[in-house]
Amino acid sequence: MTSAPARRILFIDHAGVLGGAEFSLLDIATAHATGSEVLLLADGPFRRALESRGLRVSVDPLGAFASVRKASRLPSVAAAADVLRVARLVAVRAREFDLIYANSQKAFVVGALASWMSGRPLIWHLRDILAPPHFSGPAARAVVWLANRVAARVIANSAATSAAFSAAGGRASLVRVVHNGIDRAPFDAVSDAVAVACRASLGIAASAPLVVHAGRFHAWKGQQVLLRALALEPRAQALFVGAPLFGEEAFADELKAEAHRLGVATRVQFLGFRDDVPQLMRAATVVVHSSTYPEPFGRVIVEGMLAGRPVIAARAGGVTEIVNDGETGWLVPPNDPGALARAIAAVIDDPAGAASVAARGAAHARANFSRDAMLRGVASIIEAL
Ligand code: UDP
Repeated sequence: MTSAPARRILFIDHAGVLGGAEFSLLDIATAHATGSEVLLLADGPFRRALESRGLRVSVDPLGAFASVRKASRLPSVAAAADVLRVARLVAVRAREFDLIYANSQKAFVVGALASWMSGRPLIWHLRDILAPPHFSGPAARAVVWLANRVAARVIANSAATSAAFSAAGGRASLVRVVHNGIDRAPFDAVSDAVAVACRASLGIAASAPLVVHAGRFHAWKGQQVLLRALALEPRAQALFVGAPLFGEEAFADELKAEAHRLGVATRVQFLGFRDDVPQLMRAATVVVHSSTYPEPFGRVIVEGMLAGRPVIAARAGGVTEIVNDGETGWLVPPNDPGALARAIAAVIDDPAGAASVAARGAAHARANFSRDAMLRGVASIIEAL
């Protein structure tokens, strides 16, 4: 029996930086590298990460997307003209491929137009909750209208993402839910000794209660909620891992000022973007996710579980598909520093209870959110087209 030839896929992503969607695409594109290419609409470290895995990469030759800054709103006429120009180029490029695979909402708009012009089928990997406050109602309805007409398949990264797509008028029959999956190997590779050394390198005592928060800096990622919780729980220190990826530098400065105002500045460290998240999470007493809006998925939650650490997460969106409250982690109301402080205190006060929740969380993450399961889910959708 001969196996079907590999599909040649033109992957498109709008970002040059590494957010959750880009980490996920790294794994998916690597699994389909033969004959495929990744087209980025901006240059940056994501290109280098793809190239280091041997992937063919090209960067939007017009740089036109730089001018389309707010994907959450309807674009201006000038921005729409830029999109059309890029889409025409992509359509020409797409003729060398069997399939267009859009990995972000901006990439979907370009990919959808290119699919329509080139006749190549389009998959949209939907990783956003298409609803206010993430997206305006008209912007959500506009992309969903396009998806209903052009997409051959929409892959939603959670049931919450899928539900928002349907609520905005999307055809439910287009959608398949494939949860994000994460490679456990880098987490398994971090020994206890390395985690202790990691703490020491940051000047944190081995016995100090340490909260780790990982995520790009943005108001809806809720770093400010954790700062306020720290003001209520004076035993805890915290590491903020991440950077403003899409122009939120003012928010990052404001966070640092807020840490001083709250009197917690001596207990927090802002580490910037790091590529050793597994180590930092293994060094934690507890991993906290504190997004104030519904999170489409929340890779950092699964990562906290894979690091074998108890996880406290904000109860909204895809998060509730990952954490069973009190069983595999804890859920607290979004934007509630008091509830978050009480949950952190409970972990500090009951290390044995926290350890058993962490062990169940780790088993749950390995069984249900593995990279291989995600790759199988995506491959079967590609094959079925
Ligand atoms: N991350 C990282 N370094 C950092 C901060 C975050 O590598 O300094 C990674 C994190 O480990 C996770 C991803 O970025 O894999 C964020 O994904 P998530 O789904 O949590 O959020 P998104 O960026 O998709 O909103």
